[in-house]
Amino acid sequence: MTRQHLIIDADDTLWENNVFFEEAFDKFVAFLDHAHMTPPQVRDVLDAIEAVNARIHGYGSKNFGRNLVETYHKLAHRPVSERDLEVIVGFAERILEHPIILRPGVAETLGYLAAKHELTLFTKGHPDEQRMKVDRSGLAHYFDHVEIVKEKHVEAYSDLGSVKNFHAPATWMIGNSPKSDINPALAAGFNAVFLPHPRTWILEREELRAGDAPGRLLVLDHFGELRAHF
Ligand SMILES: [Mg+2]
Repeated sequence: MTRQHLIIDADDTLWENNVFFEEAFDKFVAFLDHAHMTPPQVRDVLDAIEAVNARIHGYGSKNFGRNLVETYHKLAHRPVSERDLEVIVGFAERILEHPIILRPGVAETLGYLAAKHELTLFTKGHPDEQRMKVDRSGLAHYFDHVEIVKEKHVEAYSDLGSVKNFHAPATWMIGNSPKSDINPALAAGFNAVFLPHPRTWILEREELRAGDAPGRLLVLDHFGELRAHF
């Protein structure tokens, strides 16, 4: 295979991410201690708040903390104290303190891929927060480029491709999110590798739209399987 441009997602593709947000949510539910709402019902309220706020404020643990506070104000049936809000923000802040846990096979497979192809890490979220995770992951040296954007929509992929001079038929997006990785990359004319993660955030879930896009779509179970295709 000739040298390809491989664009690789980070959260829940290279390392675990959403599971820590889920743990913070579980602590929030226990703290809220709602009289009759079940955890999934509380989750629905939070999801609706996150869907609105992600468009305004973006992603990351700080925004998650803000969304938990808004959910708490909406659902708490006792007077809300400053101390309560500190505890809730603390659930979100502790996400960042968690050590990076790489997904299986990631480091050795990146070593293999980096020797043959041009690698771009492409992640969305708060720039400082994402940069800190990249640094702490110890993976940065495998990548020719690290790009952090506010949203990974079709325009973000088209812009990346034109700025870096990527030849679309030789360009692949590799990631766990149909909404942010696979569908917009295919719509931009690239190929894609879908690596499903069982704990993918609900707001990243979407039907795959391979449809009439010119690119190829591979669906793999594990990051290490990339070796067999590249
Ligand atoms: Mg991801």
